[in-house]
Amino acid sequence: MPLLSKAWRMILSYIVIASLWVFFSDGMLNALGLTSAQQEQLQLFKGLSFILVTAALLFLLVRNYQRINRRATEALLRSEKRLRNALEAAEDGMWDWHLSSQILYCSQGYAALLGMTQAPPQAEADYWLQRVHPDDRENLERELNKCIANRDTAPFQRSFRQLHTNGQYRLIQFRGRLLLDTKQRPERLLGTASDVTQRRKDEESLRMSAVVFDTTQEGVLVTGVDKRIVHCNPAFIRITGYSMAEILGQSPSMLKSGRHDKSFYQAIWSSVNASGTWSGEIWNRRKSGEIYPQWQCIRVIYGEHGEITHYVAVFSDISLLKRSQRELDYLAHYDPLSNLPNRLLFTERVEHALKLAHSEQRNGAVLLIDLDHFKHINESLGHDIGDLLLKDVAERLNQQLAPRMTLARLGGDEFGLLYETCSNAEQAAVQAQHLLNCLAQPYQVAGRELFVTASIGISLFPDDICDASQILRNADSALFKAKNSGRENYAFYTQELTEHARQHVELASALRYALDNQQLRVYYQPLLCLKREQVIGVEALVRWQHPTRGLVPPGEFIPIAEETGLIAAIDAWVLEQACRQMVLWRDQANGLLFVAVNVSSRLFGRGELDQRVAQVLQDTGLDPAFLELEITESAVMDNPKAAQALLERLRDLGIRLAIDDFGTGYSSLARLKRLPVHKLKLDQSFVNGLPHDHDDVAITRSVVALGHSLGLTVLAEGVEHAEQAELLKQLGCDLVQGYFYGRPVPAEHLQLTHMVDVHP
Ligand code: C2E
Ligand code: MG
Ligand code: MG
Repeated sequence: MPLLSKAWRMILSYIVIASLWVFFSDGMLNALGLTSAQQEQLQLFKGLSFILVTAALLFLLVRNYQRINRRATEALLRSEKRLRNALEAAEDGMWDWHLSSQILYCSQGYAALLGMTQAPPQAEADYWLQRVHPDDRENLERELNKCIANRDTAPFQRSFRQLHTNGQYRLIQFRGRLLLDTKQRPERLLGTASDVTQRRKDEESLRMSAVVFDTTQEGVLVTGVDKRIVHCNPAFIRITGYSMAEILGQSPSMLKSGRHDKSFYQAIWSSVNASGTWSGEIWNRRKSGEIYPQWQCIRVIYGEHGEITHYVAVFSDISLLKRSQRELDYLAHYDPLSNLPNRLLFTERVEHALKLAHSEQRNGAVLLIDLDHFKHINESLGHDIGDLLLKDVAERLNQQLAPRMTLARLGGDEFGLLYETCSNAEQAAVQAQHLLNCLAQPYQVAGRELFVTASIGISLFPDDICDASQILRNADSALFKAKNSGRENYAFYTQELTEHARQHVELASALRYALDNQQLRVYYQPLLCLKREQVIGVEALVRWQHPTRGLVPPGEFIPIAEETGLIAAIDAWVLEQACRQMVLWRDQANGLLFVAVNVSSRLFGRGELDQRVAQVLQDTGLDPAFLELEITESAVMDNPKAAQALLERLRDLGIRLAIDDFGTGYSSLARLKRLPVHKLKLDQSFVNGLPHDHDDVAITRSVVALGHSLGLTVLAEGVEHAEQAELLKQLGCDLVQGYFYGRPVPAEHLQLTHMVDVHP
């Protein structure tokens, strides 16, 4: 418009100036008074000059116009190039839709988006619309038409799929606006087009990732390079109990459980630094303070240039998993009814015990316990009652367990007992009998009194057995024998063992009966002074007057008494008998100076022997000077410190002490020197060989010399011949004891003078 008005102004000015010139110049010529020829010439000259000036003016105008036009064109080209470059750089295209002609001009860039090397110069709009995906086309047309109808010149943005030359659809985004002509009629739609297929995919995958991040059951924790928490997901909050505000900016070390040491975390970070990742089990602590196991995976996030930007830890709470693993493990290894180990676990334990037995050269036993006629209970009272009874049986058996025993329910009414500290058949038999007695007691089940007995099969190991299954097989066949021999019984794998062990157990219970029913006797054997050949004391030796077997020697029942603990009662009884007898003898003034009583090493080891002895002395009224206790060498040397203290307390009571069976243990001379004993009793095994066995002679000589040098009296046990007595006399032995002088006899048969007379 300004350009136009300027043109008009110039033309008007020209018309005015030219008209004035024509008008005034002719007047001036007339005023000059020239001749007509001169005027004619001047008129010609004026006309030519006018043309010349006008032409010059025109030239200037045209040149100026051309310059302006060229500049504008150049500027337009530059700006077009810039636009093209910008669009190319953005990988975008341009489109221009002339509504009146329905021609849609598309830039080269747009064509390239759809895989075309050359854009059709001025294709109809329909050409492009046909390439829009049928599902999107109608929608797009409607949107554009609406915009046109509403003369809506606001920028718009639409996305639709358009066909690529490779046959696939690309997602194209149009941004543009409607242009109106001077009369405000819709003239053109114009804008840019860009391929947003990848961007949309990226957005979608980002959106999906965000959903996964938010909804996953795994806790996710992101830290910066400085190992400060920058992000976490809802699962993290749920698992740890911390809120987002509490955790952001903190160090993950606030989650530590304290269960792992420094080296554990160092190993994690060295793995992360070396390989960019670590995964494993780790214990952390919740806000509540509870510690729990996680399966955690740590990864490094690298930036564009390979630098570490973040660390991500993804973890799952595996405490439930662990618990169910434990539960599964429990179910696999335990019997749900009795809560005892099942056959699988029992076999594993037996296997393990067998290995230990081999390596430590120890013995053990497996007892298979099977209830007798349990089927009848199930059939007559129902399985519920049967189950309750089984539970009671399991409980009762369980209460009988000592350390290193494993009880298992092997199935049905069969239980297994692994007895790892069982050193021999007798012990196993005692245990079996004990269990049988326990099980035979009545049960109270659902208001009923029930009775059930059991049979037990016993297998000992290692005894050439190389695997657990063989131990169980042997025990099984032993059980079969026990069942066959009338039930409520036990049996070993071999007949001999069964017999032997049974006798042993029978003996044990018979011994208890013997003690309570006065079947034990005390015999006395004289001890003589060799020099004077005079009986100066006696040794009290216990005997068992068995109703059917006759007189049983102590060697057969003392070990059983020791095993069953009955020895304490026996020794106490013998001590009392001996003391009473000695009081009688003292009253008779028969010249006996002491009675010697044997003390079991078991009892000696217990320590309270001195109180027991003091009590008996008090009860019987015997002067302590007339009592001698015989303690075996091994009992003293097994625990020398305790023995020393106990012997000192005993000596302080005023009694005498002798070391029995001297030479069979491993006495330390240094210790022997300090022991408060009065006598050494040389074991009869050395006396046996006298006088011909040179070694025995040498030993006897040494023991006599040793005893004397320590200020002790020396007694030789088991003297059976005159030559032995003769040699012992020559060697300087003080006292003797043996069949040569007199066998152990009841008190009333002891003839002191007779013996001296017989052996002058
Ligand atoms: P010991 O204390 O060494 O007793 C000596 C044993 O040698 C006695 O055997 C005795 O009868 C036997 N004896 C004595 N003279 C001769 C002989 O000339 N030749 C042979 N071959 N043997 C002879 P006994 O009475 O069978 O006692 C065996 C062991 O039983 C005793 O050995 C003692 O350790 C233990 N014992 C005996 N009575 C008791 C007791 O009341 N309590 C405890 N704890 N142990 C006892
Ligand atoms: Mg003795
Ligand atoms: Mg002895």
